[in-house]
Amino acid sequence: MKKFKTESKRLLDLMINSIYTNQEIFLRELISNASDAVDKLYFKSLTDQNIPIGKDDLEIHVSFDKDARTITVSDNGIGMTKEELDRNLGTIAHSDSLDFKTENAEKQGDAVDIIGQFGVGFYSAFMVGSTVRVVSRAFGEDEAWAWESDGIEGYTISEAERDGHGTDVVVTLKENTEDEDYDRFLSEYGLQHLIKQYSNYVRYPVRMEVTRTRQKPKPEDAGDDWKPEYEQYTETETVNSMIPIWKRRKSEVTQEEYNEFYKQDFHDFADPARTISIHAEGALTYDALLFVPSRAPYDLYSKDFKKGLALYSSNVLIMEKCEDLLPDYFNFVRGVVDSQDLTLNISRETLQHNSQLRAIANKVEKKVKSDLADMRNTDREAYEKFFENFGRGIKYGIYSSYGMKKDELADLLLFYSAKQEKMVTLDEYLDAAQPDQEAIYYAAGETTERLAKMPIVQSVLDRGYDVLFCTQDVDEFCMTAMGEYKEKQFKNVAGGDLGLETEAEKAEAEAAAKENEGLFDALKDALGEKVTKVAVSTRLTAESAAPACVTAEGPLSLEMEKILAGQPGGEELKTQRVLELNAKHPVFDVLKAAQNAGDADKVKLYADILYNQALLVEGLPIDDPVAYSQAIASLMK
Ligand code: ADP
Repeated sequence: MKKFKTESKRLLDLMINSIYTNQEIFLRELISNASDAVDKLYFKSLTDQNIPIGKDDLEIHVSFDKDARTITVSDNGIGMTKEELDRNLGTIAHSDSLDFKTENAEKQGDAVDIIGQFGVGFYSAFMVGSTVRVVSRAFGEDEAWAWESDGIEGYTISEAERDGHGTDVVVTLKENTEDEDYDRFLSEYGLQHLIKQYSNYVRYPVRMEVTRTRQKPKPEDAGDDWKPEYEQYTETETVNSMIPIWKRRKSEVTQEEYNEFYKQDFHDFADPARTISIHAEGALTYDALLFVPSRAPYDLYSKDFKKGLALYSSNVLIMEKCEDLLPDYFNFVRGVVDSQDLTLNISRETLQHNSQLRAIANKVEKKVKSDLADMRNTDREAYEKFFENFGRGIKYGIYSSYGMKKDELADLLLFYSAKQEKMVTLDEYLDAAQPDQEAIYYAAGETTERLAKMPIVQSVLDRGYDVLFCTQDVDEFCMTAMGEYKEKQFKNVAGGDLGLETEAEKAEAEAAAKENEGLFDALKDALGEKVTKVAVSTRLTAESAAPACVTAEGPLSLEMEKILAGQPGGEELKTQRVLELNAKHPVFDVLKAAQNAGDADKVKLYADILYNQALLVEGLPIDDPVAYSQAIASLMK
């Protein structure tokens, strides 16, 4: 027995025990090797007229034997001589290439995992196999040789028999354990499934014997009581589809074909809303095919949802969901990226540091962005549907990047416009704004219907300014993160000083405040810690408007406080509340009268009622509904 070199042993150990967590990919690795071997022979035939081999003669065959517990991957490719078996399979990584890769990695300055750079593919067979036997006959040779190993200490090479050139890799599966059921690979369906999943786009046919059932022919002399009989037979079938759809030009593929591919590969029953194809050539060559689904998967906003694109290297799937190819706010995008330039890295960690991958990710992001913008401009209805499905993620992207992604994403946003009564972009809001308008006004609450009825919203609308409605919990956080759009600040109509009042209104309010200082002090005392201030409203200035409203001073709005209260640790964040009174409202006269009569109990009762009423109107929770209803009841007695 020949021993594995020390470095090989170390790598082998690492491999089997840690790197690949996904055991089933051994099949993909063996098929990829077979495909390479076939490729090599095909290439040879192209350059040597004496080799009478056409593309159609070449294939890969997968079979299994339930009793012997073996899985065999055969090819009629270039094969290996005795020396090649020794050299190629005896050492995982030739030391010269190890040096080369190490040096390169250092030069690139990338913290790349060296192991990840190697074609350690063949050895993945030892993840599931207790022994692996490789019978190979090199093209143009008469002799065949068998390489055999248990993947631990070393291997043997002995004479063997094989009809024709090519290689058979026979994996004898490990014994089942309590945790591992290796027998699961011993099924027609299981293998077919794995081939379709991982090797669907291998350029040569991957064939398998499949069992089928057919009806036996009806005998000529069949009587009336003849019943159809069935028999099983086997047939060799090509399992993979070979030509990847993403390699084909968009003009050559029909939308139906794209739709079919999308639905089959990404398990959706609805056609995609958008199909985006990228073909990049030059320093980095790759193809990408991306889809924007037409509906949100049910688990999109759950913790279990995994974003990512399928990553192929030369038609072979190396990762089903490569997260690094998509930013979180485009997590809904499905699709594949295929690049021959990517090293066949094996673990997520190694890919993360890959600069080529980053370049592809950037391009993917730009392309998705521009496609969405195009959809917004040319198919508004579809875009609104899209935004209904996935807008939350985009808003969250702006918020979670602290506004850093504003420039890229803000023009994709849609909000409901109270004035136009439909969804508008921020640009559309600004286009329809008043010439003197200094801010983008918005209101946050549960539904557009409720918000439309809110007196403070109405008062801004009455002054001729449009108000955007924020009805998703992330909306206001998104606006706050943006701060401004095209130099117009976002302003919550229920917060701070809007500065919309006329000079006359301002003077009136100041006069009313001065005149009734005692009343305002008494109201503040009555409400205690609940408010930081009671003041004359410059928002509610008409007799017909509401008697009072609650607003918030400072960066935290009432709606944000409400949302945060539902989150761990968020209960402590409190707004600075202001009870604003409409000095023109008849109720204000009633308050004044109570104050002048020295009826402190009544002032307190009215203060509580007005405060709670305002909260209810604004869709905010009140502390003590029982006390509130008792207060109302006491007025009715
Ligand atoms: P990689 O394929 O990435 O080089 P592997 O460890 O999978 O690494 O295989 C090592 C080498 O063994 C291959 O480079 C190839 O030369 C040879 N080899 C593996 N499988 C086959 C096969 N089916 N036919 C011919 N050569 C093979």
